[in-house]
Amino acid sequence: MSSRYERMWNELGLDIPAHDNLLKVLGQFYGDIYLSQQGRLRGAEYLDFVLSEVHGLRIQELLEAKANGKKVVGTFCVFVPEELIWAAGGISVGLCAGAEIGQAEAERVLPRATCALIKSFMGFKLGRLCPFFESSDLIVGETTCDGKKKAYEILEEFCPVYVMEIPQRKEEVDRVLWRQEVLRFKKRLEDLTGVSITADRLSAAIRLINDRRRVLQRLNSLRKAVPAPISGRDVLLVNQISFYDDPSRFTQKIGELCDELQERVAAGAGVVPRGTPRLMLSGCPMAVPNWKLPFVVESSGAVIVGEESCIGTRSTRDLVAEDGRSIEEMIDRVVDRYMKIDCACFTPNRERIDHIVEMATGLEVDGVIHYSLQFCHPYAVESYKVERALEKAGIPLLKVETDYSMEDVKILKNRIEAFVEMLRDRV
Ligand code: SF4
Ligand code: SF4
Repeated sequence: MSSRYERMWNELGLDIPAHDNLLKVLGQFYGDIYLSQQGRLRGAEYLDFVLSEVHGLRIQELLEAKANGKKVVGTFCVFVPEELIWAAGGISVGLCAGAEIGQAEAERVLPRATCALIKSFMGFKLGRLCPFFESSDLIVGETTCDGKKKAYEILEEFCPVYVMEIPQRKEEVDRVLWRQEVLRFKKRLEDLTGVSITADRLSAAIRLINDRRRVLQRLNSLRKAVPAPISGRDVLLVNQISFYDDPSRFTQKIGELCDELQERVAAGAGVVPRGTPRLMLSGCPMAVPNWKLPFVVESSGAVIVGEESCIGTRSTRDLVAEDGRSIEEMIDRVVDRYMKIDCACFTPNRERIDHIVEMATGLEVDGVIHYSLQFCHPYAVESYKVERALEKAGIPLLKVETDYSMEDVKILKNRIEAFVEMLRDRV
């Protein structure tokens, strides 16, 4: 890909040698973790293609759209209402990053004891490693965890940043605040793009994003089958890609993948043998190319059948109701849908605990792995409640705290193999 796009990357101001290194590592990881899998669906070719062109063709598309007057808006959190971005004629891209490269750059401005996700996006910006970042006309942050909101204060020294205030609780007063924030965001987007968000435009955007969520719901429902018909790694990748590919194309391609999956399920076939321990992951989001834990789990004799995470069911479970007629009603529907998000940044956050038990039971899992990034207090602290609720439901839990480095892979593997072995004895 290098030679074809080098001019474009130069024009975007990327650090070419460092970026080449990133692509090299990404390619190696992808080969080892994805292409080595047996029994993948034909539809996985779309995933391979998107990944191989992630910094190439997709960026070219974004730059062409920008040349035609479109604006690109980069986000880091599923709390940012994407529907408004599309309704304003913008293009939304996820900027969360899952690589260790750039960490040294990030640690020039952030404490070492910061979660890997924050260090990664800061490192990508400071190290000029990410063409999505460099293509963005506006970066939208949010006041979720302390690490992120303080990091945005630094990030705005390097690019235009707009921060949305996210409530911490779910009382009526919080909904009022959130509604005001959604309206403030609408105005900011209209100023950016010069396009007014009309009822027709918002209605079309709500359907566009709901359709993408619906196809992911269909995928999640099909993968419940026993034996598991698709690997957790592939579903994680589908979820990751949903944050930066064109939504219409994504919905169509994943719809085709689901058709194929449906045939596999109808034939009673699986990607793993019947009896393989079924695990659910729960916790912090896993951004591209953070595939470490799923790879370790699935190379330890288990299969992942669900992800309770923002790069998983948290971003797809709820739709925006489509019955709003006026712009006011539609804004209300958007506000209500986003208030259902059960991120660990909320207090109290009983809904998440209930969802985890409900999901683990519905998926007939043998165990759950709770995944926290080091220095992520919201998820690490909340894991106590998760553990207690799962214990009550009789579902074994393994708590894992890690980062993006490969240093702990051996230790992780030993712990996960022992957990899987214990589950096997119970099956
Ligand atoms: S875990 Fe919380 S802060 Fe992170 S993307 Fe999800 S909603 Fe946003
Ligand atoms: S993983 Fe935790 S600490 Fe890191 S950005 Fe998300 S909520 Fe914040």
